[in-house]
Amino acid sequence: MPEFTPQFIDTHGHVNFNAFKDDGGAVIQRALDNGVGIVMPGSQIDTSRRAVEYAERWDHPYIRAAIGLHPIHLEDIQVDESEVEGQIKFHTRKEKFARAQYESLLKSSDKIVAIGEVGLDYWRLPEDPSKKEQYKKLQIDTLISQLDLALDYKNPVIVHCRKAHDDLFSIIANHGITRALTPPGVVHCYTGNKSQLKSFLELGWFIGYNGIIFKMNLEDVIKATPLERILLETDSPYLTPPLPAGALPLALHSFSGGAAKEGRNEPRFVKHVAERVAEIKQISFDEVARQTTENAKRVFRLGN
Ligand SMILES: [Zn+2]
Repeated sequence: MPEFTPQFIDTHGHVNFNAFKDDGGAVIQRALDNGVGIVMPGSQIDTSRRAVEYAERWDHPYIRAAIGLHPIHLEDIQVDESEVEGQIKFHTRKEKFARAQYESLLKSSDKIVAIGEVGLDYWRLPEDPSKKEQYKKLQIDTLISQLDLALDYKNPVIVHCRKAHDDLFSIIANHGITRALTPPGVVHCYTGNKSQLKSFLELGWFIGYNGIIFKMNLEDVIKATPLERILLETDSPYLTPPLPAGALPLALHSFSGGAAKEGRNEPRFVKHVAERVAEIKQISFDEVARQTTENAKRVFRLGN
């Protein structure tokens, strides 16, 4: 294989999701052709398997998989992402975390670089107070089980967190993974505040930024995050950044299910997140590229 050092690594690109089922290979090739590597997190057992299949098929040092059960898949719920992510609606399929399944997947491939995405999502909790507590407890227990798995196999963790940053902090601060691994992982799609940010940084965790920085005001938080601790990501197919005119024809591939009105995001658009971070931090685009790629290689031990 020819030497390849990516300019960027999209540390959170779901090419393994159905939105890419007809052209995932072409999307990965476009990313590589544009100097972008990809870490592909799973959200359930099937999407985790698909991420591993891609990583195995590509057999490329910068196309890697992560496996895990996302908190929104613990209940059957109607997800409406219109508030932050365009008009995307889908129905989740309930899954109970079965460690043996994930563990055997983990053992099956050396191209799995992290456990993720796992975490807490308090965005839509049941109204009924007892149900609400039950659902939170289920999320917390499932997160801890997956942190245990990560700790046992010394894998870094990709954490999803929505409206739950204080609970997340107390869990990871008390879990062995935070002391056993340097760095222990990344809080992806960061939307917490500055004081929560400080806590995560003190624990040694990295912070992931994506196209949500164009939709929410996170300037102060980004300014407060040292470049040495930032990972860039897209969260494809979601959170498409505003794209320059030339990039639009490819971006506007519609979802295969016809569910999207907005352009589908893809890993190579991570550059637009980098441009915005450079602008906010008033540093050069090249410096952002170089340092964040270095960071991603370190967190996920890439390039070997
Ligand atoms: Zn994700």
